[in-house]
Amino acid sequence: MKKLDTKRENLMGKIVSLCKRRGFIFPGSEIYGGLANSWDYGPLGVELKNNIKQLWWKRFVQNRDDVVGIDSALIMNPKVWEASGHLKNFSDALIECKNCHHRFRADSLTMDSGCYVCTDCDGREFAGAKDFNLMLKTFLGPSENAANVVYFRPETAQGMFVDFKNVLDTSRKAIPFGVAQIGKAFRNEITPGSFIFRTREFEQMEIEYFIRKENWEEEFENWRKEMHNWMEKDLGLDRKHIHELEVPDDERAHYSKRTIDFEYDFPFGVNELYGLAYRTDFDLKNHYKEPPYKDPQTGEEFWPHVIEPTWGVDRSVLAVLTEAYNEEESRVVLKLNQKLTPYKVAVFPLLANKPELVKTAKGVYDSLKTRFMTAWDDRGNIGKRYYSQDEIGTPWCVTIDFESLEDEKVTVRDRDTMRQERVAIEGLAEYFKSKIK
Ligand code: ATP
Repeated sequence: MKKLDTKRENLMGKIVSLCKRRGFIFPGSEIYGGLANSWDYGPLGVELKNNIKQLWWKRFVQNRDDVVGIDSALIMNPKVWEASGHLKNFSDALIECKNCHHRFRADSLTMDSGCYVCTDCDGREFAGAKDFNLMLKTFLGPSENAANVVYFRPETAQGMFVDFKNVLDTSRKAIPFGVAQIGKAFRNEITPGSFIFRTREFEQMEIEYFIRKENWEEEFENWRKEMHNWMEKDLGLDRKHIHELEVPDDERAHYSKRTIDFEYDFPFGVNELYGLAYRTDFDLKNHYKEPPYKDPQTGEEFWPHVIEPTWGVDRSVLAVLTEAYNEEESRVVLKLNQKLTPYKVAVFPLLANKPELVKTAKGVYDSLKTRFMTAWDDRGNIGKRYYSQDEIGTPWCVTIDFESLEDEKVTVRDRDTMRQERVAIEGLAEYFKSKIK
């Protein structure tokens, strides 16, 4: 992993601390001493994460004629994982430092003069690499015997393959078309870490896009562009911070003929944000005995091939926080895309002890809150309230002052420019609606 400069490394600590302080993300099970690498999304974090998922669903499912959604079970028949090859192949090479006995993913260690170096104790001797299966196991039913072993899904993708015929029969889609899903996945990662970047429980947004074999290169290219549109237009990531990595033959997943990793300049280094893979007809052939698709016009039966764009939700959250975090002279400001921010507007009465101001401000708050996520703040002075909203990315703050009681206008202050303008209370909701792009 390429390291970035120390300024960006400090950024990680600042983001983790802001997330904890402001209720975006907390350490999981904290009152019991935590559970390593588990994280809970708090009141603001869940809004941010839901906004990302809703935007994705709108762009890739609802706004398109050729993609439908599903929500399949987390725990599937274990035969699914046998057929998909995950029980045999879904593993990472694990090596153990002979000095401190810590275990690492072989590809996570740095090399020095041709040998691995332990990141914990600087040791240079390792026990030989062995494959470690990443599937998380549990038992279904009252007895813990081999017949009851099941697995938490390590990817959402298999749901789309196993449901392929049902979706086809009920949605009447014709190739090319896609099936999308958002949901949790579990991997018994050897080296989780870097905050929410690598955890054992995480969320994915995936599409299996079914195509004719001969069109795979063109379709792959289409999805490459779509993924850039998502990253740049919806998430607001700078193109300069995104890098494409053509994954070499010997590092690709067992099902893939071509994979591009979209890497991002995370605070701790450049690493995978999303992936795009050509999965061929590998999965459908594993699950079905006969070709599961018949061309509605010609009646020709064939095996659809698959392009799979895949997005990690938690890595999306970390990337947008990294991109948005800005320190300016007198403030910390999250310059998040307006569609992603937990709150769109914050409403303040200039003074909390003046009932006439509070009453008018409450009226404004009540009229906005059913249309936009709206915050209320009457603590401290206006400067502190602005600071507090900037830090969580709220795009606009509305202040009701004494003049408002006369002219029925309020002061609207913009997060990025910090400019203020007077806007009529009556037209306030329309004003914000027109501003959210
Ligand atoms: P890595 O090489 O980082 O382990 P991967 O190539 O195995 O990732 P995929 O199987 O392509 O990942 O999973 C699709 C997406 O799911 C990734 O691009 C990433 O955004 C997300 N993801 C995968 N593993 C994790 C994890 N342990 N924690 C958080 N997100 C993850």
